[in-house]
Amino acid sequence: MHTNPWLQAQSQMMKISSLLNIPKLLISRLTEPDRLISVSLPLQKDDGSVEILRGFRSQHNNILGPYKGGLRYHPSVSEDEVKALSLWMTMKCALINVPFGGGKGGITINPKSLSEKELERLTKLFTNRLSLVIGPRIDMPAPDVNTNSETMKWIVEEYSSIIGSITPAVVTGKPIESGGSLGRSEATGLGGAYALLEILREKGINPKKCTAAVQGFGNVGYHVAQFLHEEGVRIVAVSDSKEGIFVKEGLSPEITLNCKKEKGCLSECYCIESICNLTNGIKITNDELLELSVDILIPSALENVITSENAHKINAKIILEMANGPVTSDADVILQEKNVIIIPDILANSGGVFVSYLEWYQNIEIIRYTKDEVFDRLKKQMQQVVKEVITAKEENSITLRDASYVVAIKRIEKKWKENLNA
Ligand code: GLU
Repeated sequence: MHTNPWLQAQSQMMKISSLLNIPKLLISRLTEPDRLISVSLPLQKDDGSVEILRGFRSQHNNILGPYKGGLRYHPSVSEDEVKALSLWMTMKCALINVPFGGGKGGITINPKSLSEKELERLTKLFTNRLSLVIGPRIDMPAPDVNTNSETMKWIVEEYSSIIGSITPAVVTGKPIESGGSLGRSEATGLGGAYALLEILREKGINPKKCTAAVQGFGNVGYHVAQFLHEEGVRIVAVSDSKEGIFVKEGLSPEITLNCKKEKGCLSECYCIESICNLTNGIKITNDELLELSVDILIPSALENVITSENAHKINAKIILEMANGPVTSDADVILQEKNVIIIPDILANSGGVFVSYLEWYQNIEIIRYTKDEVFDRLKKQMQQVVKEVITAKEENSITLRDASYVVAIKRIEKKWKENLNA
């Protein structure tokens, strides 16, 4: 078995396509990206030196609408990684039922090694290189790992100056004052919380009796932890890329985040609350967090964190995949044997792209939704899609992951057939 995300994504696609008897022509469109762009980015550093970096954009499929998906800045970004992530975006957009196809891109770089000015120059250079193949009806990037609303603002500035017209709809996840949507930054985490609560409700499990551990304390990990904490789930552990903390009685994600910002690291933050004391709060590693005995494990960072190496050590009952591809396909099999319920990435984290769609729509129509309207739409959409996935699971006696792909591929097939007959 492999941990190459592209090979995994392709084999998942083949598996479901044969289950559904999908026409060969469509399978071939789903198992290769429509277009893969690789660009050279000579970055002028603040000290005058030049570093040549590589950027990618994979436009996987646009049967349902323009390509859509994030841009990440990370040392692991590669052609195969963006191809896999773009295929997952195609599935995610179809599943959450927005009129978008799938895309993903990124730059192979550790952004923490760059200054703010260097990051801005790099982002604008990347936008320049992509300017012919992105646009509000072509391909709209969004934030992903190590990119944020500021990155999106730079893209709008550069793209707008190239085409000579202010074009906020070229990206989503912008700052509110640059045309962003209220609720977009919370959307991925909140969507995951809605999906989980719906599945718990369906299984008759009381969230107030559940414990959870969250790996990855960035925008997604923080918000899912905070929303679940507000629903009464006891968040016993969180971790970032360096380290984690375990507090048996539960911690407040909000207080922990504020503490991390103030002290600079998580390990200083396990004894700041009244309910926390030194005997109970301990520092743990990322690996230890994954193996905790909790009801819900929430990987919210990168792909391939649960593999055949550690799958048998997982003690959680439910895994909510807030990251893209955190469980490898061979680990998936081991976890199934252990009866672990996996709420798959394309369902769990689809709230982000759903609210991206609302942002794009508000830009195109020049309207504004309130935060309550955004959250209300998100909740209804997640609940509806979870119901469809559960029905597909029961009808076909398959996992939630396979059922999510079934719902997504059926929507794509329907549109593809309509286009053929048009
Ligand atoms: N990067 C996010 C994802 O993987 C959001 C994509 C978007 O909103 O276009 O779902």
